[in-house]
Amino acid sequence: MSYILGQAGIRQGCIFDFPAAVTHDHEGLLLYKDELCEVLLNRFPYANGHLLIAPARHVADITGLSAAEANALMAMLKESIIILRRHLRPDGFNSGLNLGAAAGAGQAAHLHFHVVPRWQEDHNFMTVTADIRSIPEHIDNTFNQLLPDFQALTIPKTERQKKE
Ligand SMILES: [Zn+2]
Repeated sequence: MSYILGQAGIRQGCIFDFPAAVTHDHEGLLLYKDELCEVLLNRFPYANGHLLIAPARHVADITGLSAAEANALMAMLKESIIILRRHLRPDGFNSGLNLGAAAGAGQAAHLHFHVVPRWQEDHNFMTVTADIRSIPEHIDNTFNQLLPDFQALTIPKTERQKKE
């Protein structure tokens, strides 16, 4: 209920900015972070397992990404879909980028990709959304379910080794 009432999870400033040493954070719904990219569960999901994949650096536009950051984001998109398939068995995904407030970005100052799992039976979209949004336990359960797999990822470490 504290989630619904807005008394928990309120962070100062950008929701994507965490201290450098942090690798995950339950309060911030941060499933993964290295020096290039990070993955959060969306606090206001369109479906269970709705992820946000962002550069670790506070950058607004895709043209501001380094090659290493762009590669890390795409590698993380792939890994996220593997993990979501393993745990939630969706029938499909919507993924995309809202660039700028005019395009509907809620956090326009920090670039992020949305990854939304979809199921054949989720046609009644508003019901699904209303249900997910009204039950904070969904988010905690999904966070705890996905966290070990994200923390076990080795792909970004491989990317780091290549860079060095
Ligand atoms: Zn930021």
